[in-house]
Amino acid sequence: MLMNKNETTLETHRVYPDLTLNILTRKEHSISRKQISENALKVLYRLQGAGFEAYLVGGGVRDLLLGETPKDFDIATNATPEQIRQLFRNCRLIGRRFRLAHVMFGRDIIEVATFRGHHQDSNTQVSVKSEAGMLLRDNVYGSIDEDAERRDFTINAMYYDISDYSIHDYAGGVEDLDERLIRLIGDPEKRYREDPVRMLRAVRFAVKLDFDIEEETAAPIENLAPLLQSIPAARLYEESLKMLQSGYGLETYHQMREYNLFQQMFPVISAHFTEDYSSPTEQMLDLALDSTDMRLESGKRINPAFMYAAILWYPVVHLADSLMEMEDLCYHDAVMEAGNRVLDQMVKTIAIPRRHTTTIREIWQMQLRFLRRHGKRAFRLLDINKFRAGFDFLVMRGQIEGGETQKLAEWWDTFQSAGRKMQQGMINNLGRAGTRSAKLYRSRKPVPKKKKQGNPPS
Ligand code: ATP
Ligand code: MG
Repeated sequence: MLMNKNETTLETHRVYPDLTLNILTRKEHSISRKQISENALKVLYRLQGAGFEAYLVGGGVRDLLLGETPKDFDIATNATPEQIRQLFRNCRLIGRRFRLAHVMFGRDIIEVATFRGHHQDSNTQVSVKSEAGMLLRDNVYGSIDEDAERRDFTINAMYYDISDYSIHDYAGGVEDLDERLIRLIGDPEKRYREDPVRMLRAVRFAVKLDFDIEEETAAPIENLAPLLQSIPAARLYEESLKMLQSGYGLETYHQMREYNLFQQMFPVISAHFTEDYSSPTEQMLDLALDSTDMRLESGKRINPAFMYAAILWYPVVHLADSLMEMEDLCYHDAVMEAGNRVLDQMVKTIAIPRRHTTTIREIWQMQLRFLRRHGKRAFRLLDINKFRAGFDFLVMRGQIEGGETQKLAEWWDTFQSAGRKMQQGMINNLGRAGTRSAKLYRSRKPVPKKKKQGNPPS
């Protein structure tokens, strides 16, 4: 169906009920093949050569039109995952809820998705909805028109056609790019119910692109935010990294908080929120996220364990204080026990992988060890693999707490770069500071040696 919308060269087609297709020819947009990665081009051409439709879609098109460098290139095609696998030796099929092909070129992965279709039929092999309207499985294949309708935001539903270099804009994405708007395709509430993660994506793109969230897209978020509780913790972990560790973490956290989204993902932390953002937990969030953003900006490496250790620290200390009173634990044991409990709570919503929780505990334990510097202890601590992370953490605590913590951070700052003689002098000068404190560690009773275990009595 052709609709003559206006007299420009734009081709306009009426497609699925709510969408109107605009086609921008090569002359009408700024994307050139040179800007697309070699690997993405290879995949596009191989699909096309085999007789399939192949488009670049999503962030690749959006970011190139904005003059930015895309993070990755996503491809959409009418080839099924099986057909894609047959075309590429270096291909892996992933995902249950949403089946995709990953074509691998060393570390570079090109994601290839088959056009999604509508899922009114009740074939549970391919499409499953929860009672709340959430899509648990979404593997109905369809045409490009249907695929466009299934995408989240208008600016993510633009397709670059490798056969003639045109852009197919299904939902008014070009216009919304111009107006710098994040707008959901279709009825916002329904789309959020289908996949609550779209609420997070709205905020993430708004911050990253410096766009506004269009009014109707923004309106339901605050009320629907609790739907995030139904998202598997492993998926929310991945999303948490995209939100907080992609270079715009500080601003993203602030916006998530305004939309009641942060509170759903991090209930352990938000229990410490205040009206004026003044609690140590909130100060630590600001410092840790700001420092992550700055490290990414200057090309430094970041570690999710460090961020999680930081943002959970004051909730841990808070709980440790009450454990000391209630369960008569020394400070060291109370902090470690509180750490375990807080992490147990945390992983219920966000599945932080075990390799990271181990590091998180290590960083926390180092905070206790920084206090004890006599004898060889300070030297031993310097040799620990995670010393740098532990020290950076102590510096942030110093900024928040001031007083003794700040002095301790300064001491370690000098100590680590001093010569051996000066280091020894610093330890000798400690006097009573830096020794084992009764409050910090309970004096250990000798633990009776366990007898070798025989078979348990039957
Ligand atoms: P970036 O990769 O820069 O974070 P992106 O837009 O490419 O942004 P991806 O997560 O790579 O995001 O997803 C690729 C495309 O898949 C999106 O642009 C969108 O069209 C579609 N998409 C991804 N997640 C969803 C979702 N939850 N609901 C609907 N469509 C989605
Ligand atoms: Mg992408």
